Amino acid sequence: MNCNIRIGLGHDTHRLESGGPLRLGGIDIPFDKQAVGHSDADVLLHAITDAVLGAAALGDIGEFFPDTDPVNLGRDSAEMLSAAVDALHSAGYTIVNIDCVVLAERPKLLLHRQAIRNRIAMLTQVDPQNVGLKGKTGEQTGALGRNEIIQAIVVCLISAHSQP
Ligand code: MG
Repeated sequence: MNCNIRIGLGHDTHRLESGGPLRLGGIDIPFDKQAVGHSDADVLLHAITDAVLGAAALGDIGEFFPDTDPVNLGRDSAEMLSAAVDALHSAGYTIVNIDCVVLAERPKLLLHRQAIRNRIAMLTQVDPQNVGLKGKTGEQTGALGRNEIIQAIVVCLISAHSQP
């Protein structure tokens, strides 16, 4: 059965270590910790990329950009998301809206929320009004609460291109 509307889910976790700034949602946020990973470790763009790919069942970020490939070392996650959006468009879909939750004890996202929404909107070719972004803490529990990790959860709704 073909369906014009589909939904995708993405999730990602990265370790936080001393240093900074924190790359999140395609921008650099002043912070005394940075996320660690094979690429630029942008946990939010990784989760969005997986939500976009998952919505059209196109695979996942690890298949597109294996962390065993040296060419992906330090790669800008904006490139990965752009490639996923291109693949989605080629498959006949456009993004309707994206909703994101970032889980981190710190930093507070509110100051940076609009800048991140604008950047995500640019990369996914939607209006910023169609990008939701919320920050949640770990309520001082577990690895989240100790500020050892940062996580993101994202859903993405897509729609089939209308026929000419
Ligand atoms: Mg990741």
